[in-house]
Amino acid sequence: MTDDPLHSALLDARVPRYTSYPPANRFSADVGPNQSGDWLGAVATDAPISVYVHVPFCRRLCWFCACRTQGTTADAPLDRFLDHLDLEAAMVAARLPRDVTAGALHLGGGTPTILSPDRIARLSELLHGAFTFTNDAEISVEIDPVECDEARLSALAALGTTRASLGVQDFDPIVQAAIGREQSVAATRAVVDGARARGIESLNVDLVYGLPHQTEARIAATLETVLDLRPDRLALFGYAHVPWMARRQRMIPEDALPLPVERIALAARAREMLVAAGYREIGIDHFALPDDAMAHAAAAGTLRRNFQGYTTDRAPTLIGLGPSSISRYAEGFAQNAPATGAWQARIAEGMLGTVRGHALTRDERMTADIIERIMCDARVDLAAMAERHDQPLVPLLTLARAALADLPGVGTLEGEVLRVGRPAALRLVAAHFDPGFAPSANLYSQAS
Ligand code: SF4
Repeated sequence: MTDDPLHSALLDARVPRYTSYPPANRFSADVGPNQSGDWLGAVATDAPISVYVHVPFCRRLCWFCACRTQGTTADAPLDRFLDHLDLEAAMVAARLPRDVTAGALHLGGGTPTILSPDRIARLSELLHGAFTFTNDAEISVEIDPVECDEARLSALAALGTTRASLGVQDFDPIVQAAIGREQSVAATRAVVDGARARGIESLNVDLVYGLPHQTEARIAATLETVLDLRPDRLALFGYAHVPWMARRQRMIPEDALPLPVERIALAARAREMLVAAGYREIGIDHFALPDDAMAHAAAAGTLRRNFQGYTTDRAPTLIGLGPSSISRYAEGFAQNAPATGAWQARIAEGMLGTVRGHALTRDERMTADIIERIMCDARVDLAAMAERHDQPLVPLLTLARAALADLPGVGTLEGEVLRVGRPAALRLVAAHFDPGFAPSANLYSQAS
């Protein structure tokens, strides 16, 4: 055991991941299609927007995964999805001001590569029919290496994909069996090589610590293999065991989950290996090679945080398409109906898919700004924040002092600049600026 107070706080804390402020579980039905339609019409034309497409299907449903997705062995649901996506993209585009361009596209899910090459081509066609993409648009896609082949990689390259994110989690067969996800090193390497051969050169790998049967030796072996693939970026997520929210997780053997203190050791071991291999640690869970755009953005203080995690995308507007996707506007957030059937029904009736969201108040804009800088930069200039948002400085300094008093040794307040020295503490410090945060045993994942 340890007498490090932060260690105890990490073991106990359940804190939002702050991919948005306020977190999506505080959205309400106050925001609907009329509100999001107004926000679409008010999108500024002086900066490109970003587009996110949520593909809500997988061929296999991994037990650890809490993503919004559904399993299908048939192809008809994929075509129905594309039919409705076509309608939704056209409806959204019709409400946007003329001259709006799109500078980024992200395909997430679910498994975007469940789409066959001809369906990927159709997706490309419908998106290009609705939006005007800039010539240098960044196009990124999440890939399940087991559900991807040479033909799909060629279709993604033809779509203009610049970056691919590969799910790995852990290569150990015992861990894979316990999370219901088998994936060979050979299949993963084939996708890495195939993507690079087609000019998709920026690669990210997702890993997860805290999985059942994971040990330091097993996670180290996975890291050795992944480092051999030399991805530009890695995400190292902590497994959040929330079976009351993600029913698939009931298949996970709880008695094989690492203890909280073991989770911290797993994360520390992985972090140590990544840093030793030359990766820069970014925020709470990302690593990037020094010449990667994410490392540059982190150094320049321009890193952003959105629903996909850390991003170099600085677009002020993010349009989400597909079930459960979330749009971010200057005025607030709008989320589509989570279930595919409900989303399709709304779209078929000619309505935007929005069923919930949140309109930001002036105070919340400042809170969002402060929390994003803490999560991205591990520092925030509170005087600059107070000035930018025309709010008093003293209450912010009081919150900063309270955070440092509650979490001794995690950071400093030098003048009006709050710095957090330990990445593991970022969420805990950010929560001190969140007036809506109430510690809960069930709603949020562990901070470690
Ligand atoms: S990890 Fe990927 S393939 Fe597995 S259920 Fe989640 S989204 Fe689907």
